[in-house]
Amino acid sequence: MKTANENNKTDKTSLNFIEAIIEEDLKNGKNDSRVHTRFPPEPNGYLHIGHAKSICLNFGLAQKYNGKTNIRFDDTNPTKEEVEYVDSIKEDVQWLGFQWDAEYYASDYFEQLYQWAIQLIKEEKAYVDDSSQEEISKGRGVPTSPGIESPYRNRSVEENLDLFQRMRQGEFPEGSRVLRAKIDMASPNMHMRDPIMYRILYAHHHRTGNEWCIYPMYDYAHGQSDSIEGITHSICTLEFEVHRPLYDWFCKALRIHHPQQIEFARLNINYTVMSKRKLLQLVQEKHVSSWDDPRMPTISGLRRRGYTPESIRNFADTIGVAKRENVIDISLLEFCVREDLNKKALRTMAVLDPVKLIIDNYPADKVEYMTAVNNPENPKDGVRNIAFSHELWIERSDFMEDAPKKFFRLSIGREVRLKYAYIIKCTGIDKDENGNITAIHCDYDPQTRSGMPDSGRKVKGTIHWVSATHAKTAEVRLFDRLFHVPNPDDADEGKTFIDNINPDSLKIINAYTEAEFLHTDVLSNYQFERMGYFCIDKDSTPEKLVFNRTVSLRDTWAKKHT
Ligand code: ATP
Ligand code: MG
Repeated sequence: MKTANENNKTDKTSLNFIEAIIEEDLKNGKNDSRVHTRFPPEPNGYLHIGHAKSICLNFGLAQKYNGKTNIRFDDTNPTKEEVEYVDSIKEDVQWLGFQWDAEYYASDYFEQLYQWAIQLIKEEKAYVDDSSQEEISKGRGVPTSPGIESPYRNRSVEENLDLFQRMRQGEFPEGSRVLRAKIDMASPNMHMRDPIMYRILYAHHHRTGNEWCIYPMYDYAHGQSDSIEGITHSICTLEFEVHRPLYDWFCKALRIHHPQQIEFARLNINYTVMSKRKLLQLVQEKHVSSWDDPRMPTISGLRRRGYTPESIRNFADTIGVAKRENVIDISLLEFCVREDLNKKALRTMAVLDPVKLIIDNYPADKVEYMTAVNNPENPKDGVRNIAFSHELWIERSDFMEDAPKKFFRLSIGREVRLKYAYIIKCTGIDKDENGNITAIHCDYDPQTRSGMPDSGRKVKGTIHWVSATHAKTAEVRLFDRLFHVPNPDDADEGKTFIDNINPDSLKIINAYTEAEFLHTDVLSNYQFERMGYFCIDKDSTPEKLVFNRTVSLRDTWAKKHT
């Protein structure tokens, strides 16, 4: 496995291989020295973090070279595509911080593509094939020996034109005929063995309705769509490298503007799956609540989880672009969000696993307001006042009965500082009949209030707390990895990635929080001091906030699982 920086540029001024190609083209005045990229999602699901890499790359290159980027929906497969997906894709791209210069749909070009198909038929570069799907794939054969030409390959231009027009009119049933490019049945590249250009499909299309019953295949639609839009550099993932000769063949055969296809390695991350088909299965089979479930690697899931656009863009930047497939460690993504939230998130105190702390020498009816810093990384965020009183909630794990010497938190006889407040000394505990601790007793030292002249006494530990009478209750959703193995697709015989789902990926608890939050808008980010980064979920109500844990403060996964 590769980690963070192996693909990274060695220094900020060196170019990645795509930038090198673009700079060479600019130097040579190719494409009138324009740079025009596109992001071409198929609207058959929500975007995931892999798409984010492609978005950052395409839009980033245009920004760097003063060019343009289109968004184009590759909507040539009507049975799987929906408007809901189109809307979510646009929202996600904009949320990431990018704005396209133009919005197009491959379906905008159906008529032009059809006319071009007629042109290819007239030039004897395409033919209607009546063979079945099985006969066609059998005829293609295997790469090591030439395939067999279809018996329909040498039809006359007139017959091909007639049949193709009638395919469009809806005269033939689905699967009965296809239009194929006439290229080379002996090519060692299987994609060049008379690839299918059109198939018959009686399906309703989310934009063209029932206007068409023949639909272009990806390979016939993609390059020409790029060409129509004047795209200069058509960036795609590595699996399309073997399609490139076909991309080039269509542009040449049609004598149209010829963009350059450039392939890069797709992003893979461990402990997750990243194909839309699998993500859809997780949603449909209710392994997660929705596409934007915070455990999903979708952009909408990461957003709901509390990831910021900057953290995702930084991640994309850090991993860089490579020509070889590799797997990025998920902890790098987590590192990027921690780094960003450390700068931005407002601090607050919340107790996730509470136990009562009773300050016996503090008057029962007294309340003091302690000054707390909202964000030590950003003084402009100011301070707030938090109530302090006789009874507090503290974290159960901050007390230990038989504590080892190096446990710098509470144990009978030991001292800690309550953050923003006083030093206290633990004096005893209460237990129920089962031996569970129900309360911890302590005394405070009035001379040690934070901000007072140094009392000369230092303690090693500082713990967080909330005032029991003032605290509010919030629901907190603690997420763990959705899969408990690094490569979920690597399943045992007869099993699938579904069997690798981590059964404990969501834990819902009630926590005690400070009484007030500066912002309560959905997605507001907070650091719960000492506990991690959390954000407000859309399920919150005026009565009860719901928080999602974005990430813990430190990487605890490795510790827990090795
Ligand atoms: P999936 O297999 O997840 O459905 P896809 O490649 O079929 O992905 P598209 O909607 O066709 O999804 O992709 C839109 C763009 O995003 C394409 O240019 C594609 O190459 C790119 N892309 C998709 N997945 C990744 C990934 N994991 N890493 C980088 N780029 C990706
Ligand atoms: Mg696809």
